Formats: sequence, C-alpha cells, structure tokens
Amino acid sequence: MNHVPRTVGFKPGERNIFFHILTACNLSCSHCYINPKQHGTQALDIATIQSWLKLFAAPGKKSNVIFLGGEPTMHPDLPEAVRFAKTLGFDVTVDSNGYLFHDFLYKVTPNELDYLSFSLDGPDAQINDPIRGEGVFDVCTTHLQQAVQLGFNVSVIYTVSRRNIGHLHRMVAVLTGFGVKKFFIQVIGLRGKSATRQAGDESGVQVSREEWLAVVPQVARQAAEAGIHVTYPKVFLDANETFGCAGVVAENYFIFPNGRVYQCPLCEDHPVNSYRIENNLLVKNSGLTEDRFFQLNIGEGCVMNKLLQPDTIEYDEEGRPQHRISCCLLKQEIG
Ligand code: SF4
Ligand code: SF4
Repeated sequence: MNHVPRTVGFKPGERNIFFHILTACNLSCSHCYINPKQHGTQALDIATIQSWLKLFAAPGKKSNVIFLGGEPTMHPDLPEAVRFAKTLGFDVTVDSNGYLFHDFLYKVTPNELDYLSFSLDGPDAQINDPIRGEGVFDVCTTHLQQAVQLGFNVSVIYTVSRRNIGHLHRMVAVLTGFGVKKFFIQVIGLRGKSATRQAGDESGVQVSREEWLAVVPQVARQAAEAGIHVTYPKVFLDANETFGCAGVVAENYFIFPNGRVYQCPLCEDHPVNSYRIENNLLVKNSGLTEDRFFQLNIGEGCVMNKLLQPDTIEYDEEGRPQHRISCCLLKQEIG
C-alpha cells in the first residue's frame, strides 16, 4: 500500500465514456449539475443506448463506460445496457444516488458490473441530507451495505463543498465500517445549481485553495492508511508541474440524451460540444466549439476554468496568476 499521493497522468489510449442515459432523477441535490435545458429530458431507449455504445467501442483499447443520469437505475433497461457494454469490451461502472430502482442489485451480477458507485456527501444524515435530501443517507447506506454483501465492487463519491468539507475526515471510519475500498473525492463545480449562489450565502459553496489543501490530502492519506484507495482531483498545479488538457491528450466523452457529446465537463452548460450524435452517427460540430480552446496556453492553466470560473483564480499585485488550475480531469491517487 502506497501512502504517498501520486498524480495520475492521462493514460494515452485509455478512453472514458460518461454516458448519461437519462436526466430524470428522484432527488434534487443542491449541487446537481444536470441542466435539462442543455442536456435534454428524454430517457434513451435500449436500442439507442446500444447503438450509441457501439459508436464508442474500440476493441483492443482499454475503454471504460460510466452510466450516469439523472439517476441511471431509474432506467428499467440499465441491466441490459450493462451487459451489452460488457459484450463490447467496456469496463462498466454505474454511478447511483443509492436508490437502486428496479431491483438493480438483483438484475446484474458482480461479474457483469465492474464498479458500483454510491454518492454520499456526508458521514451521517445530519450532513448528507440537507445537501442530497431528507432520508437519503439511510436509503443509500442500506443499499450500499447490501451491495457489499452481494460481492459488488463498491465505491463512494463525496463532493466537497463548504457545507461538508469539515466532515470529510469522518468518512474514513464510515467507509471502513461499510467495507468500502475505493473513495472518490470530488470538488464542487460551478455548474448547474451550484453556479447559483444561495441567498444569504455570499461566499458561495466552493472551497478555497487553502481550505482544499488543508483538508483533502490529509484525509486521503488517513483513508489510505485505513486500506482505502482514494482518488481526488489535483485542482492546483505545483510550480514544477506541467499543464495538460485532457481534451488534447486523452479521450473522454460526455454523452447526453439530447445527443450532445462533450470532451470537457466544464463546458456542459453551453452549446459548445465538439460532437453530436445524429441518426445514431457521431458527427463533428463546426463553429466555436470547446476543442478550439484546448490548445490555448495561458498562465492560469485551464482555459475553460479561466473563462467559466474566474473566481477560482488568485492574482498577485502585478496581475500574475498565483497558481495554475489543473485540468479538472487530472487526478491524484493514494492507497
Ligand atoms: S442524485 Fe445526481 S442527478 Fe440526482 S439530483 Fe442528485 S446530483 Fe442530480
Ligand atoms: S477542464 Fe480545462 S484542461 Fe481539462 S479538458 Fe476542459 S478545458 Fe481542457
């Protein structure tokens, strides 16, 4: 077990397909990034899901498909989609809010599903439920424990914001108690609902560099010492680190039910998607699309962050950025 965090460079040739098969959800989390105006409201039928999966299949390359929503288990044909993705050679993950509709746990086997991820934003109901909804902690953790008992590879995703960063350290004991071996820490983005600052909360919910660095690496190390593998975003590049844009050096596709296909998740609130799916074909978009920006080299690091989340950048008295912001897809791993 390695307890020194390492930056995970983009793995050349590795492909990640983030497939939102619907946008509907039974919950209404305060930081939800789903934007039905931009992403559509339809649920794709199973024939369409299969056709679109085929567009991204690449035999011989390591490809991951992550089924997302909305809440993907609300789709009655998700188990069939999981099995079809496996036949195409994908490693398959389902990211769920924990409600696991349609008896999902009993319609797939641990052999068919590589990872089942549960979203929890607090170590108990008092912290989690004001963010994710009343009663959600109990439902999610009950299903999580069932999944562990049934032999699924279970991971937990925790989205860090001002509302829960002070409780992140308590997740180590919670995960250990549940037997969870993989933990993903995310940083709240300024997309969807979290882009709207709440009345009376002028500071917003996004954490500062100081808050992030004071808490997250330390908790990740504690979790690693407890035998948990932790992945968290790099966010701030060290002075000696090279900036790289995943849009240039990796293959990531974020697919929405309205046919938009993005390469950069920061762009998902805007109609600048590089590709679209039309008549079950992948079509390159022309005009001012996200990929026009990927090659730009600026002192602030990620150009989309500079354009869309300028509040995250601090400047010195001479107007020079004090830190470069990494690609949001650059991760650190420990454990
Ligand atoms: S569970 Fe996910 S999709 Fe549903 S409201 Fe929460 S963040 Fe949005
Ligand atoms: S987050 Fe920034 S660096 Fe990463 S893909 Fe998007 S534009 Fe490129």
